[in-house]
Amino acid sequence: MTAAFPNMLKPLDLGFTQLKNRIVMGSMHTGLEDRFYNYGKLAAYFAERARGGTALMITGGISPNRRGWLLPLGGTMNGLGDVVNHRRVTSAVHAEGGKILMQILHSGRYGYHPFVVSASDRKSPISMFKPRTIKESEILSTIRDYGRCAKLSKLAGYDGVEIMGSEGYLLNQFICNRTNNRKDKWGGSLENRMRLPVEIVKRVRKEVGKDFIICYRLSLIDLVEGGNSWPEIVAIAKALEAAGITILNTGIGWHEARVPTIVTSVPRAAFRKVTANIRKELKIPVMASNRINTPEICDDIIASGDADLISMARPLLADPAFVNKAAAGKPEEINTCIACNQGCLDMTFSGKRSTCLVNPQACAETELVYVKTTRAKKIAVVGGGMAGLSFATVAAERGHDVTLFEAADDIGGQFTMAMNVPGKEEFRETVRYFRAMVKKTSVKVVLNKRVGDADLKAGGFDEVVIATGVTPRTPKIPGIDHPKVLSYPDVLKHGKKVGHRVAVIGAGGIGIDVSEFLLAEHSPQPVDHWLAEWGVDVNSTEPGGLAAPVRHPPLREVYLLQRKEGKKMGQGPGKTTGWVHRLALQHHQVKMLGGVEYVKVDDLGLHIRVGGEDQILDVDNIILCAGQESVKDLLPVDTEGKISDKRFHVIGGAKLAGELDAMRAIREGAELAARL
Ligand code: NAP
Ligand code: SF4
Repeated sequence: MTAAFPNMLKPLDLGFTQLKNRIVMGSMHTGLEDRFYNYGKLAAYFAERARGGTALMITGGISPNRRGWLLPLGGTMNGLGDVVNHRRVTSAVHAEGGKILMQILHSGRYGYHPFVVSASDRKSPISMFKPRTIKESEILSTIRDYGRCAKLSKLAGYDGVEIMGSEGYLLNQFICNRTNNRKDKWGGSLENRMRLPVEIVKRVRKEVGKDFIICYRLSLIDLVEGGNSWPEIVAIAKALEAAGITILNTGIGWHEARVPTIVTSVPRAAFRKVTANIRKELKIPVMASNRINTPEICDDIIASGDADLISMARPLLADPAFVNKAAAGKPEEINTCIACNQGCLDMTFSGKRSTCLVNPQACAETELVYVKTTRAKKIAVVGGGMAGLSFATVAAERGHDVTLFEAADDIGGQFTMAMNVPGKEEFRETVRYFRAMVKKTSVKVVLNKRVGDADLKAGGFDEVVIATGVTPRTPKIPGIDHPKVLSYPDVLKHGKKVGHRVAVIGAGGIGIDVSEFLLAEHSPQPVDHWLAEWGVDVNSTEPGGLAAPVRHPPLREVYLLQRKEGKKMGQGPGKTTGWVHRLALQHHQVKMLGGVEYVKVDDLGLHIRVGGEDQILDVDNIILCAGQESVKDLLPVDTEGKISDKRFHVIGGAKLAGELDAMRAIREGAELAARL
């Protein structure tokens, strides 16, 4: 194998264990770790990533006791029964030549159950449950629980543990004044506040011996008021090093912070400097994390000396063979994580099993399996958007003879618009990936071809997949054909000129995208610019690393409108991303109006009625983002609307336009291709 990214692949000698390279799969809660009957699936998930070249992986959070559960009956390592379950995971990883750490996570006040405890009884703004102040006797038993949990993890075959001390979980809650107002020896001075994590590390080291990895994930920038200052963070890191940790991992921000840290609009490697700063202070290896998703960035971070190791979780969910593809000099074949959170964190926070928008096999490795076909078929795919591309590449990989017809001059469908939205530049990577995959799997791509019934008949296809997507909906409003009115493809795709004052009709995902497009100064946003706008000081001059945000006057005056009342506007479809969009729109002074009735459009602008009162929005342009309708003219249907020709199949937006998202489109394409 050629070392295409030599720094990323350079071995790291930890003294007692040789790591093949610098890439670590960071901890990510998938939901599989919470139920013992899912451990077979969890084993397959990690084995797949070990096979793909990842040298070291870290499990999702496993609680050392009941009080530390993230969710009721969440994953634990408390007894021999747990050891047996976890052995399935460690054996599978070792069989593939990988190594794995078990993350020990005590949720503290972030737990979603009534037994939650914390350093003090301050409720978190993002949690339903008010914590009880943990008693000193319980602190001592918690230290013992961490020790027992680590010892059992060693018995289960793990190569080490990661102690979760960042993102606002229990150990972070002890370390920061924000959540610790204790008057005993576990609160007050920094020495007292860091006593619990330091005692835990000492206890764990005592239980597991010296040849066992202890990684500690420390919050290097809290991004909340009442967080730690840089001198305090350095002192804690040094105390943890002295107590016996092997690796220090970077944690960025608490979950309750109102600064985005991992969503797609966060520039790549935006926080590498905090890792570089701590590396200068320690002798042990230091790991960088957050929004690192390509081999080029990994290589650059290692080469520049900012970190010894790179932690990536979502990018390895998106592509389990990331490391092998990079090592083979084929980065264009990597299915890059676009940091959308839709398939992974949004699922986890809705109590569902994680997956990945761009990789529907993630966490379903034993269920969605692509087996080589024994009867190759001739298949036509009509439409080169996400659904069509997903189907075509999986079907061709399985050995079918696939021709993909696309009416436009390029593949990508709706993604070719999304990737023009500032903060969504990552969507380009998915189009690039599919471009590489159609080539690799020998899909015949026919562009600029609007297929008709005759073409499909003449082609002699065994199967026809209709993936013709959607067309923007034009709402029935008097004056809708006025020259002021533009569609969202006019703006995002065809570059039509837009005036200074704008009304956006429809506040769904695309209405938000269009608003952000109209308000952005740069695409992509430079890291320094982004940090200043969100008020982040990576040197943590002030406690928590917060600074006064730098806001520029908005480029345009934008009204974002919807007919529905009551619903939070500008929320977007994602549970973990909606608040970021909402705050960004507020920063740009977008006026959001719900309960709007659209009366008419004329030379004066957009006439609306809100709460029975008529208003005229004196705007230069009105942009329609009012949802879509399916395009499925080619689908043969009977009088009841059922498909009348068994060779035809329909997927993605063509099947159902409402609530269409790329995740469903890609999954439907892959699932159909797996069974044809
Ligand atoms: P959408 O989310 O369904 O929003 C459509 C908007 O149009 C709604 O605000 C709706 O609100 C309005 N609308 C619907 N019918 C209308 C009519 N007849 N007249 C006036 N307004 C009307 O659709 P979308 O924004 O087009 O997005 C399409 C899909 O792509 C969605 O599933 C979305 O989740 C996905 N997407 C995702 C992202 C992301 O960041 N993950 C970004 C973009 C798109 P009212 O009915 O209240 O007026
Ligand atoms: Fe990345 Fe989105 Fe996949 Fe999550 S769902 S791993 S954020 S591409």
